[in-house]
Amino acid sequence: MNFPGFKVTHEDRGVVIDLEMPQQLRRYFFARLYAKGKMNDEAAGDPEKVWRVLAEEYGNVPLVAPLQVHGTNIITADKNNSLPLRPEADGVLLAELSSAFASLRFADCVPVVTAGIAEEPWLYLLHSGFKGTLQNIAAAALSNARQRFGHFDKNRIWAWICPGIGAECYSRRKDDPSAVKASKLFSAESVFEEEEYFRFDLKKEIASQILAFGVPAENIYTFDCCTSCCRDLFYSYRAGDAEKRIFLLAGMPKNLNLM
Ligand SMILES: [Zn+2]
Repeated sequence: MNFPGFKVTHEDRGVVIDLEMPQQLRRYFFARLYAKGKMNDEAAGDPEKVWRVLAEEYGNVPLVAPLQVHGTNIITADKNNSLPLRPEADGVLLAELSSAFASLRFADCVPVVTAGIAEEPWLYLLHSGFKGTLQNIAAAALSNARQRFGHFDKNRIWAWICPGIGAECYSRRKDDPSAVKASKLFSAESVFEEEEYFRFDLKKEIASQILAFGVPAENIYTFDCCTSCCRDLFYSYRAGDAEKRIFLLAGMPKNLNLM
């Protein structure tokens, strides 16, 4: 299984999905999803355990791994925010002066990465589950980038919408006020109405949020795979993975000799 903008490989420790950076960004950033496998089975969602396995091959840099609370707070990939500290946030910003790598964890919520070049290159990792998508964390990150980095050119922004639960497996009851709110806020093609519940296509909604910000469609890549249906590659909270998580990592290759 593969989609444009992504490259899937199988390592001993598990499935790895690289986000393919455009030429303009490749020398600044890498981003990689460690999906299902031995490493994440054993870590059971604990980023310190994951980093104990991976840190050495990434030069033992500090790792930012926030406590995800389904909000829109974004912190910087700074060693003052790094493990063992777990500040509350659902987004992490990497920029040229970052002193740490960035990470987030997922099981059904959608991992989103957006990156671009303004006066300096920037990259955000985002946790966009139902609540994060309802609060439009993608637009919050892009607005944050516009404020921080000058000479903002939307044609030089890219986004990767990574595997999350699909509409066929994600319903919320109609007596849930947040479901009613989402049914009104989300674009029509992301919402399916049934008798007692709504089904939501979070990946499609996130793509339309990023498109609405002005990012060109050809710069938005979606790994359109449902975590609950593709259990050989991913973990799924709704399908029974209470603790195990896929692990999204981003950093700067200048620290790694990956260039
Ligand atoms: Zn599914």
